[in-house]
Amino acid sequence: MYTAIGYAAQTPTSPLLPMSFERRSPRADDVAIEILYCGVCHSDIHQARNEWGIAVYPLMPGHEIVGRVTAVGANVSKHKVGDLVGVGCMVDSCRECQACAKDLEQYCLAGPTMTYATPDRVDGSNTMGGYSNSIVVSEHFVLRMPHGLDLASAAPLLCAGITTYSPLKHHGVGPGHKVGILGMGGLGHMGIKFAKALGAEVTLFTRSAAKAEEARRQGADHVIVSSDAEQMRAAAGRFDFLLDTIPVQHDLNPYLDTLTFDGVHILVGLIEPVEPPLHAANLVLKRRVLAGSLIGGIAETQEMLDFSAEHGITCDIEMLDIRSINEAFERVIAGDVKYRFVIDMTTLKA
Ligand code: NDP
Ligand code: ZN
Repeated sequence: MYTAIGYAAQTPTSPLLPMSFERRSPRADDVAIEILYCGVCHSDIHQARNEWGIAVYPLMPGHEIVGRVTAVGANVSKHKVGDLVGVGCMVDSCRECQACAKDLEQYCLAGPTMTYATPDRVDGSNTMGGYSNSIVVSEHFVLRMPHGLDLASAAPLLCAGITTYSPLKHHGVGPGHKVGILGMGGLGHMGIKFAKALGAEVTLFTRSAAKAEEARRQGADHVIVSSDAEQMRAAAGRFDFLLDTIPVQHDLNPYLDTLTFDGVHILVGLIEPVEPPLHAANLVLKRRVLAGSLIGGIAETQEMLDFSAEHGITCDIEMLDIRSINEAFERVIAGDVKYRFVIDMTTLKA
């Protein structure tokens, strides 16, 4: 065991405050990592405030982690001391169920071990995330950071990146497809970049007309202001896919209307229950599909990192001093960040 430091919430209503705690010494298959950067995902806020009802305290968020390997266990072959590596939302899974066998650890039938607020499979301790100076993770769940990616801007690829890349790939998005991205925050701006890089025609649906120019700079071909009923009606029946990153309850019906027959509306926000109710006719009469998607598997996350390096894709970030994390949470909720905060972990030493 060794002493680590980080920022954690002690209750759903308390701010994140510094705390020291014990990280395990590397087991035979573990990699110990000095964390350099960690992105701030909206899920971190949902979890710190127990908005999903599954939080465990103290809760140390952070699952968009980039760092350098400082030690490895005796059986580690994938990574060595000094390597630049990444860790996303998961740190373990059962590794033998049908999902794990298909490299879909995020759908592990026994439940994946998430990077924070989940019992470790071996010692039962509560996992602590990346708002910290270090982390220890089994080598299978540690990604190789490709050369050529700016490390700070690449950190959010570990969640915002894979969560948008995976459903676009799974549904076969490519040239000839019209794709709508709902909401341009951390996930949404990555969705625009990936859908564009995969060859689709991309439209941003946003609440704010002011984001139109920004969206085009990100690669969007068109912008629809979702609060303008006229613009929504004019888009009826146009899209093959919608990738919905809106983090709060919202009416799905006007969006479903913009899909063509066989169109697919993919949810990534955990906005249950859907409110106001879904009109079944919006699905039935056009054989449309309402789908969901959770992050991506480890092999696919590596594929996404390599794809990003090849296509020069990173996130638009604002560097954050960890001492301002509580203000940063408020700014994320207010939509006042372009488009991801990334904690510079040197500020933890200050
Ligand atoms: P952000 O807060 O960065 O972005 C969300 C965007 O949604 C905003 O920028 C805004 O875009 C739009 N939005 C926000 N509030 C509203 C509202 N009241 N009504 C309509 N639109 C709104 O969040 P993230 O991108 O970090 O996360 C998005 C969601 O995805 C979260 O719920 C998060 O928990 C979830 N998530 C899911 C994962 C998965 O594996 N399924 C993994 C990671 C995150 P605009 O201003 O353009 O309208
Ligand atoms: Zn996330």
